[in-house]
Amino acid sequence: NTRALLEKQREIDSSAVAYPDDIPIAFEDGKGATVRDADGNTYIDLFAGIGVLNVGHSNPYVLEAVHEQADKFVHTVDFPTEARLELIEKLDEIVPEGLQGQNKVVFGGPTGSDAIEASIKLAKYNTGGDGLIAFRGAYHGATTGAMSVTSNKKFKGHYTPLLSDVVHAPYPHPFRQDKTPEEAVDHALEEVRAIVEDPYGGLANPAGMIVEPIQGEGGIVTPPEGFLQGLRDIADDNDVVLVFDEIQSGMGRTGQWWASDWDGVTPDVMTSAKALGGVGFPLSATIYHEELDTWGPGDHAGTYRGHVVGMRAGTRAIEYIQEHDLLAHARDLGGYIQGRLREAANGNEHLADIRGKGLFIGAEFVDSDGNPDGDLVDAIQQYCFERGVLIWTAGRHGNVLRFLPPLVLTHDLAETALDVVVEAIDEVTA
Ligand code: PMP
Repeated sequence: NTRALLEKQREIDSSAVAYPDDIPIAFEDGKGATVRDADGNTYIDLFAGIGVLNVGHSNPYVLEAVHEQADKFVHTVDFPTEARLELIEKLDEIVPEGLQGQNKVVFGGPTGSDAIEASIKLAKYNTGGDGLIAFRGAYHGATTGAMSVTSNKKFKGHYTPLLSDVVHAPYPHPFRQDKTPEEAVDHALEEVRAIVEDPYGGLANPAGMIVEPIQGEGGIVTPPEGFLQGLRDIADDNDVVLVFDEIQSGMGRTGQWWASDWDGVTPDVMTSAKALGGVGFPLSATIYHEELDTWGPGDHAGTYRGHVVGMRAGTRAIEYIQEHDLLAHARDLGGYIQGRLREAANGNEHLADIRGKGLFIGAEFVDSDGNPDGDLVDAIQQYCFERGVLIWTAGRHGNVLRFLPPLVLTHDLAETALDVVVEAIDEVTA
């Protein structure tokens, strides 16, 4: 069945479908942290639809509200609905402390890229500037503004010209830069300060700075403490709007609501999407300090200003995470997974760096000369797939094994999955 579905997809679907040939899977159904393929094989899911299914596949508590809402109505643009107001209030409970009780939310469109576009527009509108500081290794989405602040040429090379005044600063990556954590932070912050403040820095009229508190697609690059606070200081000194892109790192993924909560730094604007839609409904939010609430009615428009069913799902998902204390669970289980990986790395020259927070974990692989080795990671991914574990990759060279499981992954399932992953690492790097 799987083969037939795959063949049909290849025949009728777009060539842009990104699909690793060696991971042939067609989904039939999913529950919690497992999925079944069209032939009844069950897999443990360490991928969660790129970090979307934080409360698990088809979470019944979320779906109950989804069905109820869908039976009433699905679309209203932004006329008041209980679903909308309830989610705005719920988000206020969990946003970073400095935004609590003093934020506004714009549901601008269904995808993360929409939220990024809204954040860029907010920064420009409020400052009158047009320059943007972004970071090397960043991924922010596939629309024009979002591609402009993304750094990987693969995603934007064919679509220039994009927004013109964007400068990418180095992102602290102690392992790859061969620096101590302090050196990596200092180096990045010096560059950012120069871009904003130095007359030769490159940006004539800076409006905003956009950063992932932990880089996802870039390879779960986890900046040392001090980086986000340093950006906060530079933004404050220069009246530049600081945007945290929490689309992949937020909604409990790291064992805090937002990855930036680990550092206790509050942005001016924060983007959320992916897990915000509960069980995979397309929903994004741009959450910003009320001082930036200067837009007039319709200044930021769109037909889908919040999907009503997605909003219900989002509120329910937040409740579910709260009621089951999934933040603590993500921290515990993340510690367990990193522990297993560190054991596997002991004496293995190929598993060179393990990083991340909560259930946002990356394991970076290198060849015998210490160079990035994406082939090893592809082979590990395939070995895992053949033994019932779905896991994805990340990083500039595809050499980072990316752990992004649903937060509802149980300890037992994690143990089973890690037995397979560790065996894969041992076999492939032997
Ligand atoms: N920002 C980050 C950090 C992301 O990881 C992604 C998606 N991988 C996006 C933005 C874009 O989101 P979307 O694909 O929903 O447009």
